[in-house]
Amino acid sequence: MIPKTPVMRRCISCRTTFDRNNLFKITNDHKLGIMLNQGTGRSAYICKSKKCCTDSKLQKKLQKALKSILNPDFFDIFKREIANYN
Ligand SMILES: [Zn+2]
Repeated sequence: MIPKTPVMRRCISCRTTFDRNNLFKITNDHKLGIMLNQGTGRSAYICKSKKCCTDSKLQKKLQKALKSILNPDFFDIFKREIANYN
């Protein structure tokens, strides 16, 4: 059996690289818009640390990374998702 190499991605907040499984993935899907942990298109990653998930500049950073304006509804979903995780 060949060991699986973890896919490393960088958190847009603390800029540390993590195994993709330890990150929230936010994708700007071509058709469906901003999605959490699904969709295809330009993606940004945030690690699951409290510091990064509650980063006050997170919205700005995400919008810059995704080159898209985020719907405020998305943040409600995102915050609920984080609350579930913690
Ligand atoms: Zn982080």
